[in-house]
Amino acid sequence: MSMNSAQIREKFLQFFADRGHQRVPSASMIPGNDPTLLFTNAGMVPFKDVFLGTDKRRYTRATSAQRCLRAGGKHNDLENVGYTARHHTFFEMLGNFSFGDYFKREAIQYAWHFLTEELQLPAEKLWVTVFTEDDEAYDIWVKEIGIPESRISRIGESDNFWSMGDTGPCGPCSEVFYDHGPEVWGGPPGTPEEDGDRYIEIWNLVFMQYNRQADGSFEPLPDPSIDTGMGLERIAAILQGVHSNYETDTFQALIHAAAKAVGVTDTESKSLRVIADHIRSCSFLIVDGVMPSNEGRGYVLRRIIRRAVRHGHLLGAKGAFFYQLVDELIQQMGDAYPELEQKRQVIEDALQREEQQFARTLERGLAILNEEIKTLQDTVIPGDVVFKLYDTYGFPVDLTADIAREQELTIDEPGFQQAMDQQRQRAQQSSQFGVDYNSQLKSSQQSKFLGYSDDQGQAAIVELFKE
Ligand code: ATP
Ligand code: MG
Ligand code: MG
Ligand code: MG
Repeated sequence: MSMNSAQIREKFLQFFADRGHQRVPSASMIPGNDPTLLFTNAGMVPFKDVFLGTDKRRYTRATSAQRCLRAGGKHNDLENVGYTARHHTFFEMLGNFSFGDYFKREAIQYAWHFLTEELQLPAEKLWVTVFTEDDEAYDIWVKEIGIPESRISRIGESDNFWSMGDTGPCGPCSEVFYDHGPEVWGGPPGTPEEDGDRYIEIWNLVFMQYNRQADGSFEPLPDPSIDTGMGLERIAAILQGVHSNYETDTFQALIHAAAKAVGVTDTESKSLRVIADHIRSCSFLIVDGVMPSNEGRGYVLRRIIRRAVRHGHLLGAKGAFFYQLVDELIQQMGDAYPELEQKRQVIEDALQREEQQFARTLERGLAILNEEIKTLQDTVIPGDVVFKLYDTYGFPVDLTADIAREQELTIDEPGFQQAMDQQRQRAQQSSQFGVDYNSQLKSSQQSKFLGYSDDQGQAAIVELFKE
């Protein structure tokens, strides 16, 4: 069954609407009144207070296609873009929600029904995980759905205890994976090869039961609830018979537009994939009111734009190209998101301005970096070089790290920090700067979900299941 992304989005929403779910439009990627969260990183974010019981709606079931950003904070996939077939900064999460209405059994049944009957995915290609302690979910999958035990596994809190952030709603979860077949590298969930792109996680069913407190303790939510999330781009890849999100309709259109704008004919490069990803996150951030700046969300936007511009430069782009992709983005996503067309001018102007500004220092900075790399004795770019690029040439640290990674080098982050601190001291006016997310930006390794991965956290969660 081949469907384009718009049809899949609609089919999902209709399936749940037919089952009593209120269709709720996507909220902004800037969380309404949640200072703990940088961006909306999942479909449940706009419903956070409903889960907590402090906001009441006139419905107890909802469904949405929520625009999400994972480019900062707890869930950060910026470093994955260009390296995996399945991670984006911006993506759409299809979700169904129960606020104290149905729980595990129905959530699992709905998901299975939608995948195997509505979308007609072959059952034997679907794999499932549940939280280690969750016998109830395990039994529903095996005894009621009929998943063979060879395709279900129990995984610990690292992957099967979902949390929005360091505090807030959370709970054990059950994930559904799709096997793209032996021609793609990777292993089933729970094996050392799971990070490959063969077995791809498509849908996460979260059994929302707790509110994680700042002190690390868990308070039960007023009602056990359901929060699910399925990546539209991942399910589109499956339904379109391709193994990478970048080969789906939406991305192919953007990749071709990008190739044209930078003036290349080969559409296979990693840089084009990165640019196609970044035009979505940047445009939608601007739609949601963020502008490039030196702090907070604005700095995340600036960093993503500059990465895109650098990748265009790598392909030989002459002049501003990035803003030219807005047109294709509107063609692809304008029906689902009319605000794109409404803000077309604002988006194009902001992107073009930022691009022109950075273009002035990009080339010079790259020349300096390349000189430094030539003289390196080891594989680490010194902190003072990273700092100079940052301070004088406007290279966000992650951009320099991205360049380094392409050449199998790394950057000296502590050294950079030190140079930064020294400059702050020299300037003696550090208080005039706001939150600097650049200094909080961690490499992908470090930004992996560290919240509960200590033994204590695991023990606390296991305790919950004994109660
Ligand atoms: P992964 O393990 O592949 O990084 P995840 O466990 O971090 O995914 P969840 O937080 O469970 O993802 O989000 C629910 C769903 O959203 C995932 O099952 C996936 O389909 C989709 N998704 C998550 N992150 C991304 C991303 N960066 N780009 C595209 N889709 C994503
Ligand atoms: Mg992830
Ligand atoms: Mg996962
Ligand atoms: Mg998941």
